[in-house]
Amino acid sequence: MAKPISALFWFRQDLRLQDNTALNAALNKGYSIIPVYILDHDNAGPWAMGGASRWWLHESLASLNRALGGRLILKSGRPEKILPTLIGQTGAKAVFWNRCYEPWQIARDKTIKDDLKGRGITVESFKDFLLWEPWEILKDDGTPYKVFTPFYRKGCLGSPLTPLPADPLAHAWKQQLCTSQDGGDLLSGLGLLPKINWHATLAQTWQPGETGAQIRLQEFIQRGLRGYKQDRNRPDFENVSRLSPHLHFGEISIRTLWHTVQNAGRSEGLESDTDHFCSELGWREFSAYLLYHYPDLPRAPLQPRFAHFPWRDDPAALRAWQKGQTGIPIVDAGMRQLWQTGWMHNRVRMIVASFLVKNLLIHWHHGEDWFWDTLVDADLANNSASWQWVAGCGADAAPYFRIFNPVTQGEKFDPRGDYVRQYVPELSALSADEIHAPWTSRHTPAAYPPPLVDLKASRTRALAAFEQIKKAA
Ligand SMILES: Cc1cc2nc3c(=O)[nH]c(=O)nc-3n(C[C@H](O)[C@H](O)[C@H](O)COP(=O)(O)OP(=O)(O)OC[C@H]3O[C@@H](n4cnc5c(N)ncnc54)[C@H](O)[C@@H]3O)c2cc1C
Repeated sequence: MAKPISALFWFRQDLRLQDNTALNAALNKGYSIIPVYILDHDNAGPWAMGGASRWWLHESLASLNRALGGRLILKSGRPEKILPTLIGQTGAKAVFWNRCYEPWQIARDKTIKDDLKGRGITVESFKDFLLWEPWEILKDDGTPYKVFTPFYRKGCLGSPLTPLPADPLAHAWKQQLCTSQDGGDLLSGLGLLPKINWHATLAQTWQPGETGAQIRLQEFIQRGLRGYKQDRNRPDFENVSRLSPHLHFGEISIRTLWHTVQNAGRSEGLESDTDHFCSELGWREFSAYLLYHYPDLPRAPLQPRFAHFPWRDDPAALRAWQKGQTGIPIVDAGMRQLWQTGWMHNRVRMIVASFLVKNLLIHWHHGEDWFWDTLVDADLANNSASWQWVAGCGADAAPYFRIFNPVTQGEKFDPRGDYVRQYVPELSALSADEIHAPWTSRHTPAAYPPPLVDLKASRTRALAAFEQIKKAA
């Protein structure tokens, strides 16, 4: 019998077997699959994964490897060197992957594609991580959108692709798996786990991997979707999906998510909750779109006048913010939730970010970097677009002069103070009326710090700083 032709399947941000476009394509073409993951720090440069992401990746790769019967080849280094070596060792005739969109990934993948094609290797890449390719949605004049709503409307015109049917080779395809002579590095050899044991609490909170993503999705449909539109702003409720790290690592396909929620929501009559949830997936698309069209997004303000903004250098205040010791309860609760769980509720992300860039006048780069290191869902597009949005310098951004008052925000979105009590236990004895502004209470515990800044005075200072750049182009 003729030996089947083999192909490398290069897993990247698609760490799953179900509804995986490139994997399905390779299998349907009859290739024997050699699955490989390559930890690529060198090409990523400053955007190499942060600590929380590395922990997640470790767990996710372990899960994927189990699903692959232990045949996942793990490597660390430059894919442009590793892939040709693996091809030489295995005799693979093709390489399949799903596209990634960070600027350094795009540049790297193009080089690899050109090189491998020059060696006579078939290379096929696919749309999978996004619903809409960034180059598919342009204004009538051919330029990219900078405003979300028309972008989203245009995206939705071409209804998102449906999930791939259950793989016709489902039961047989593992027989199409083959392995390299060189079994690759051991997972532990990738050195993804932190040296200090701060990740113990992450492990209590999350189940990385495809199964964990499916469980999270089902929980959201059963308990979170009803009321999502209104209660997604409540950090004390369970109405958001917490699927962001699973989406970032591709443990669930965006098509599966979109259509599962659409079907479940519509059959329950939850039209507005469903639409709102899908529009949040639209924001994810929009962030990736912005990063594609503006590759300097992680560092350069989209509104150039902000390059002259008079930021303050205040390492002590930055440290207090990072540690959740600002004396502003909702801010401290958010920053401690981040440290303990690797995730923070979206409403609270907006509040802590606004506090950093407006009340403390500290550059959004510092917040972006801290989030990059500590979020399990750290995502270059979502993180940089969101920081620019809060700082007022991004596309379709919140106007700079709209400055959140963290006390009012806390009272509105955590009215009983339950969220603050959970993460700032020093304040747990305070009543709902006092908990968001403990300095007004006679019962404030000595263990809790006084506010780092006066909210009114720091607001005035922020507006004055903005005046300095307002007229610049
Ligand atoms: C300062 C700041 C930094 C952020 N950094 C990140 C980041 O690094 N990674 C990240 O995934 N999100 C980031 N976000 C966006 C948002 O906070 C998270 O996506 C969301 O909180 C994840 O929780 P969830 O999965 O329960 O969201 P849900 O409400 O259940 O939404 C479902 C999915 O939609 C997407 N989504 C929701 N809101 C947004 C948004 N505003 N922008 C882009 N996509 C969105 C996410 O993929 C999310 O998983 C940031 C927001 C702010 C304000």
